Amino acid sequence: MKHTDIRDIFYDSSFVGKTVTVCGWVRTSRDSKNVSFLEINDGTALKHLQVVIDKEKITGYENAMKLGCSVKVNGTICENPNNGVEINASEILVLGESPTDYPLQKKRHTLEFLRTMPHLRVRTNTFNAVFRVRSVLASAIHNYFQSRGYVYVNTPIITGSDAEGAGEVFRVTTQGFDHGCKTEEEYYANDFFGKKAGLSVSGQLEGEVAAMAFGKIYTFGPSFRAENSNTPRHLAEFWHIEPEVAFAELPDIIEIAEDMIKNIIGVVLEKCPDEIAFFEKHFEPGLSDKLKSIISHEFGIVEYTEAIEILKQSGRQFNYPCDWGCDLQTEHERYITEEVFKKPVFVINYPKDIKAFYMKQNPDGKTVAATDLLVPGVGEIIGCSEREADYGKLTEAMKARNMKFDDYSDYLDLRKFGSVPHSGFGLGFERILMYITGMANIRDITLYPRTVGSVR
Ligand code: ATP
Ligand code: MN
Repeated sequence: MKHTDIRDIFYDSSFVGKTVTVCGWVRTSRDSKNVSFLEINDGTALKHLQVVIDKEKITGYENAMKLGCSVKVNGTICENPNNGVEINASEILVLGESPTDYPLQKKRHTLEFLRTMPHLRVRTNTFNAVFRVRSVLASAIHNYFQSRGYVYVNTPIITGSDAEGAGEVFRVTTQGFDHGCKTEEEYYANDFFGKKAGLSVSGQLEGEVAAMAFGKIYTFGPSFRAENSNTPRHLAEFWHIEPEVAFAELPDIIEIAEDMIKNIIGVVLEKCPDEIAFFEKHFEPGLSDKLKSIISHEFGIVEYTEAIEILKQSGRQFNYPCDWGCDLQTEHERYITEEVFKKPVFVINYPKDIKAFYMKQNPDGKTVAATDLLVPGVGEIIGCSEREADYGKLTEAMKARNMKFDDYSDYLDLRKFGSVPHSGFGLGFERILMYITGMANIRDITLYPRTVGSVR
C-alpha cells in the first residue's frame, strides 16, 4: 500500500503543499459546524497527525470518527500554527472499523488497567514511546559491541547445566503427568534429552567458552528465572546482555560497563528526544537532566565492606537488618545509590559466601572480585565479576558448594587448557530500560510480561 510515514511528514518541511497518502489509527476525533478533525497515528512518530475534513467536500466518513479504527487518508499537507503540520483531506477510506466497545475511549488510562489488555495498550502514547526507546536501545547495544570488535554469540536457551546451582530453573520436559515413572532418575532418563533439562538463567558459562576462543563476545537474548519474586523489577522471562572478555580483570570490566551504559544512554538521548520529553512530562520530572548527568559524571565505586558500614551508620530502620556477610536487599541498594551517592555506583568485593562459585577469589580469602552496578530508582542493573581462572581454586569453591564436577567438565577444561584472566557481566535489558525511561514497573516495558501466576 503506497503511503508516507507520518514521521517523515513531521520531520521534512518539503512535504508542505504536497499531496500525500497517510495511514493510521484514529486516536481522537472532534466535530464542529463546518469541519471535523481526526488525529491519527501510524506508530512511526509519537505525535499524531491532524486530519482536517471539510464537511462540504467530504461525506460518508462517520465511521472514521470512531476511536481505534484504521484509515487511509489522501490530502494536502498544510502548515498549522499549533501543531506544525496537518493534512487537508480530499479522500478518507476506513480500512478497519472500530465499534464503540473499543476499550481505549478515554485519553488517559491507568497503567494497571492497560496491563489487562497487552494487545491494545501498545496503541497508546506511553507504549509507543516505550517500545521505540526499547528498539533504539537494543540497536545501540549491538552497535556498541559490534563497533568494538566483540563477537555476538547465541548461547543455548535450553540447557542441561543448571548454571549457578540455584533452584530457580524452569524445567523443560515432554513427558505428561501420567508418565508412569517410579523414580526421578527414571523420569529424566525417559525424557526428551535423556536427562534433566531447563531454560537457561544465564548464558554466561557458554559465553565463557566463546570468549576463550574469540576474546571478546557478547550475548543478547532471553533468560528465564522461576524465582517467586513478585516485584516491579522481576520477570520470569527477561532479556539479558552478557559480555565476556578475555584478558580483563575486574577494573577493566568495570570500565567497559560504565562506558557502555554512558554510550547507549547517549544514543537514546540523541535519537529519541520526543520520547524522553514525553517520559519527563508524564513519568519522571527531570529525566533528561538525569540522563545527561549520567553521561558526564563518573560512576561511584564503593567496597562492599564500606557499604555495610554506611548502612549501619545511616540511622535508618531497614526491614532487613544488615551486617558484614549479608546480601544487600533492594532497600539497602537503593539507600546507597539514591541517598548516599545519588548516581550509579559499583559495589565491589562481596563476601564469597553470598556470591556464585565461579567468581574470582580475592587474596583476603573472604571476598570475591564481583560487583553489582546500582542505580537510583531501580537498584541493581548489572551483576558482574572477574571469573576464577585457577583450576585448583575453582574446584575448591565447587567442593565447598557440593557441586558435581561431571556437570561442569567443559567449564573446568577452560581452566585446564590455556586459562586466562577474564571477566564479564550481565545487564538486564528491561532494568536499564526502566532507568532510562523512568517507568517504575517492569511489566510496562515488556510486550507480554511473564510473572509469577501470570502468562498470556
Ligand atoms: P536481583 O538481585 O535483582 O534479583 P540477580 O542478582 O538475581 O538480580 P543476576 O543473576 O546478577 O541477577 O543477573 C544479572 C542481571 O540480570 C541483573 O543485574 C538484572 O539486571 C537482570 N535480572 C536478573 N533477574 C531478573 C529478573 N527476574 N527480571 C528482570 N531482570 C533480571
Ligand atoms: Mn546480581
